[in-house]
Amino acid sequence: MSPLFIPGPVDVHEDILAAQAQPMLPHRGAQFEEIFHRTEKKARRLFQTKSRVFLLASSGTGFHEAAVRNLVSERMLACVNGAFSQRWYQVAQTNGKQVDLLEVDWKQPITPELVADQVKKHQYEILTIVHNETSTGLLNPIAEIAAAVHLTSPETLICVDAVSSLGGTLMEMDAWGLDLVLSSSQKALALPPGLALCAVSDRALARTEQVPDRGWYFDFRRLEKHRTSNSTPATPAMPLIFALEMQLDRIFEEGLENRFSRHQQMADHTRAWALGRNFRLFAPKGYRSPTVTAIENTPQIDLNGLIKHLSARDFIIASGYGRLRDSTFRIGHMGEIDMADLDNLLEEINQFLDE
Ligand SMILES: *Cc1c(COP(=O)(O)O)cnc(C)c1O
Repeated sequence: MSPLFIPGPVDVHEDILAAQAQPMLPHRGAQFEEIFHRTEKKARRLFQTKSRVFLLASSGTGFHEAAVRNLVSERMLACVNGAFSQRWYQVAQTNGKQVDLLEVDWKQPITPELVADQVKKHQYEILTIVHNETSTGLLNPIAEIAAAVHLTSPETLICVDAVSSLGGTLMEMDAWGLDLVLSSSQKALALPPGLALCAVSDRALARTEQVPDRGWYFDFRRLEKHRTSNSTPATPAMPLIFALEMQLDRIFEEGLENRFSRHQQMADHTRAWALGRNFRLFAPKGYRSPTVTAIENTPQIDLNGLIKHLSARDFIIASGYGRLRDSTFRIGHMGEIDMADLDNLLEEINQFLDE
């Protein structure tokens, strides 16, 4: 089924594509508000939160900006071990925030010990961290990090980018004590791009009162006021809301546990294949991503040749991201694809390698 083995955008089920083609509705009308209300409630179940989920026309990066605009008046910490966490750091800087950087080698996870040490040094209003670093195929241990921060600096709000993990692996916002979890539609949720989802805790929402100049479009207080009347301050991305509701139904029908184990099995399979073909994996054991595998080109194969060979056969994989472009390649195994799709892809790669 799937030609797209890149870590977003991914293939979208035909029923979901069709859901977007429903007739539009007045966005300030009972019919749409009812749909919005239902969809937001279902989204909370995905984040495993009782608080609230903002559904907004934007890509996920919009909420990188929203987090720092809404929650930081003085000082924050950015944890960086890949290109997307680095982006969040830059978003904070370019919004004029005082931001300290905790960066580790991109082949290493952010650890609870490192973060606990750093948050002892200053009173940070928030820390930002990426759950699944799509650029390196590395999953940071968010639950453990959050627990360590709760002990050492309970006032620090924990803001998590779950763009390429939500819907592909476990996310328990409330149980882990997270304050903000953001995601995009086009990754493990397997929707078209254009919708951002962001769950915000009660205490994070309360914190916004102390922060001036939060802006307008992404102001959490304004978003909350409209959410409670089942809408958004500006026109919602209606076709994507239709699609999201149907996709959430499909996800719950598959079952979250089943969905996560399908992703884990595809990840295990991809890693075993890569190691069997004498590649090395970029991320270390114990921290490898369930949704995307970053593979080092240790045997020095012709990567451009491989990508061309595959695309001529309707399979698309991703080169490395940013500074890893020439030394790695990435196989996305997220969304709707299954083991049979993955096997078809790996078989094609084998043929190229054996030529
Ligand atoms: C893709 C990605 C982003 C950027 O998401 P957009 O929806 O393109 O803004 C941010 N973080 C991670 C981890 C990603 O994989």
